[in-house]
Amino acid sequence: MDKIKMTTPLVEMDGDEMTRILWKMIKDELLHPFIDLKTEYYDLGLEYRNETNDQVTVDSALATKKYGVAVKCATITPNAARMTEYDLKEMWKSPNGTIRAILDGTVFRAPIVVKGIEPTVRTWKKPITIARHAYGDVYKGSEMKIPGKGKAELVYTAEDGTETRELIHNFDGAGIIQGMHNLNSSISSFARSCFNYALDTKQDLWFSTKDTISKKYDHTFKDIFQEIYDAEYDEKFKEAGIEYFYTLIDDAVARVIRSEGGYIWACKNYDGDVMSDMIATAFGSLAMMTSVLVSPDGNYEYEAAHGTVQRHYYKHLKGEETSTNSVATIFAWTGALRKRGELDQIDDLVTFADKLEKATIDTIESGKMTKDLALISKLPDVTVLNSEDFIKEVRKTLEAML
Ligand code: NAP
Ligand code: MG
Repeated sequence: MDKIKMTTPLVEMDGDEMTRILWKMIKDELLHPFIDLKTEYYDLGLEYRNETNDQVTVDSALATKKYGVAVKCATITPNAARMTEYDLKEMWKSPNGTIRAILDGTVFRAPIVVKGIEPTVRTWKKPITIARHAYGDVYKGSEMKIPGKGKAELVYTAEDGTETRELIHNFDGAGIIQGMHNLNSSISSFARSCFNYALDTKQDLWFSTKDTISKKYDHTFKDIFQEIYDAEYDEKFKEAGIEYFYTLIDDAVARVIRSEGGYIWACKNYDGDVMSDMIATAFGSLAMMTSVLVSPDGNYEYEAAHGTVQRHYYKHLKGEETSTNSVATIFAWTGALRKRGELDQIDDLVTFADKLEKATIDTIESGKMTKDLALISKLPDVTVLNSEDFIKEVRKTLEAML
């Protein structure tokens, strides 16, 4: 069989620990034998980030802007313990934060649904994708403890010095306050990323905030979404046979639980943080959650939602067997390869991505899986495989399919 040829390179961002081990296994077993893999390689492993003063992360994000599609392995976000473990020059920032700041995107997270792993919510038949706005609100808030009696106000000072004031509260005793912000430009980017992703994946888009209570802050989100939808997307959505609808967050929660799934739920930053963990857990496992960063000008960065699986890596270093789930990392590759195939009109690449996903799901549905899934699977006959044997089993299924 001839290997599939690629025309434009994928931006490949290698990472850390157990996921770095899986990364190589996936390439060796599931990609190189079938594709003349063309990538521009960036080593985002912590050692090389430290060596390059984190320039490699910036370069990889700029390359994503140039080529349009990236695939990223999980990476360590350094903390105090990592400073000593890796003898770091500085506590480098989260690579995901750096990449997001350069690409200015929205993060879409969707669970991979397989038979035998039943969602906790009985009505859910199709995946629910969370679109999380990744800028501002409480994540960029300022807070203050109020010690006692006194007046707290919001003050905006314009460039010409004029002040606008809004009373927060006349305190009779001790309390707390919080100031937060967002930007119309960031909300607009968020809206466009959501509308584009809905069109890309042909799914309805839901958006929810608490605009009845937050009449200026949340209402601005609602208004910006509606203005952009009416001006730029209404016709495209009708053509694609999909729907955009806005509802209050409490109503959205009730509808989500009653739904069959199969749509995108756009959430403000905090709501998306909370709801994506709820959705991942209710669908089964964080190891089965995919994640893609979509920028408003159409760049895509695919990854797994989980981290570097440090605990398994330490076992691996001690020579012990691991049973780490590679599904979300495999799907990061298939997502990126499919998108590259679509952009470059290479049908074979798109078909290969579809088949590799199907082979992965079929393998699990035939009862062969890693330990994390075996613990929650309802299938009658389950074989627990180690990290490597699972990937080899997927290869067998794939080869039988090709
Ligand atoms: P984690 O890597 O997501 O793992 C937490 C636990 O979840 C694991 O110990 C394991 O549970 C389970 N798990 C996660 N993924 C799994 C998989 N593929 N297969 C099987 N089990 C899986 O989170 P963490 O241990 O808190 O973080 C480790 C490092 O990852 C940190 O340095 C953090 O900065 C980084 N991180 C990176 C990203 C990213 O790059 N996007 C995201 C999150 C965290 P058991 O131990 O019970 O088996
Ligand atoms: Mg969270």
